Amino acid sequence: MHRQVGIIGSGIAGLLCASTLNEAGISCFVLDKGRGPGGRMATRYRGAFKWDHGAQYFTLQDERFQSIVIEWERLGLVQKWFDLKGVEGMGSTRYVGTDGINSIAQYLKKSLEVFQETRVDHLFYENTIWHLETEKGARFTCDELVCTQPIPQGISLLKSSGLFEGLSDGALLDSVRYEKGLSTLVVLAGASAIAEPGCLRLKDGIIAWMADNSKKGLTSEHTCVTLQAQPDFAKEHWNSLDAVRGSLMIEAAKAYLGSEVTDFHCHRWGYAFAKNPIKATHIRDGALAISFAGDGFGKSRVETAALSGVLAAEEIIQSNKFLGS
Ligand SMILES: Cc1cc2nc3c(=O)[nH]c(=O)nc-3n(C[C@H](O)[C@H](O)[C@H](O)COP(=O)(O)OP(=O)(O)OC[C@H]3O[C@@H](n4cnc5c(N)ncnc54)[C@H](O)[C@@H]3O)c2cc1C
Repeated sequence: MHRQVGIIGSGIAGLLCASTLNEAGISCFVLDKGRGPGGRMATRYRGAFKWDHGAQYFTLQDERFQSIVIEWERLGLVQKWFDLKGVEGMGSTRYVGTDGINSIAQYLKKSLEVFQETRVDHLFYENTIWHLETEKGARFTCDELVCTQPIPQGISLLKSSGLFEGLSDGALLDSVRYEKGLSTLVVLAGASAIAEPGCLRLKDGIIAWMADNSKKGLTSEHTCVTLQAQPDFAKEHWNSLDAVRGSLMIEAAKAYLGSEVTDFHCHRWGYAFAKNPIKATHIRDGALAISFAGDGFGKSRVETAALSGVLAAEEIIQSNKFLGS
């Protein structure tokens, strides 16, 4: 019988896990509840405006990520943004998506079997086969499962499916917590006052980070700035109106915006960054044929999530379970 791997999540971890499996001749499918691929590598389009509103850039620090990034660069998908070696907390080269960070996910998806708007809401594991039931009542089956959603979401799915107790490393996985996030996407009438290279990290106050998307190279008819809130502010204003939380963030960023704000809207992130990621690249429970990968491991960044997906796939490949399938 044809054997395959099922992957939950079409963020960078899930997509690179799937590509790595396919390259080794193992068939797989990816299910994601979102409308498009990329997860937190998200680019928002609104008329003539464009913002990266989740991940702004990614680093290349691990040589295992190098060949992947070189290929993306060769294809024109990514470009170097800036290098701040030696600046506190900002070491190494930053890469951005040439036309927004989400275009990387759009590219990867093209050669994969990805089902969007497909939320997995129940799992069964019977006779060594995984059954993934979606909220719309569809059922997918696979021989091995990879969960790449933020770990608390994966654990919650296992718990509600009655499968958590059988999981090795369950307590460790269950200990991972995430910060909430809040982005305010701003349109300016003129140029921003954010100095080159077009981003700023702030330590005090309610803004953690801001970026001028046009200075990152995203094309737009107007200056589009992304403001990201400190986690405490995101939590406090989780249910505030955009008119309140967005205005507070704009006021706090006023000195750097430099031009009149003509429009703004906010985006909430239920799982922005892992507070206490696991110090491993991924976890596989061979007895239950399930792996966990994504940014709950390593540093909770694009680079470590990407590598986590690749390395989870490599462990499945090395298990020889799919030999001759
Ligand atoms: C505001 C913000 C700014 C950031 N800035 C940076 C940055 O500048 N640089 C950087 O390196 N990192 C940054 N990050 C972190 C980075 O975006 C993440 O670490 C990385 O994108 C995580 O990738 P992932 O594949 O692990 O998870 P995700 O991208 O979250 O993908 C998981 C996917 O699982 C899907 N899913 C969840 N549950 C289900 C279900 N039941 N059924 C089906 N699908 C499901 C989700 O829809 C999602 O698409 C930022 C994050 C945020 C929120």
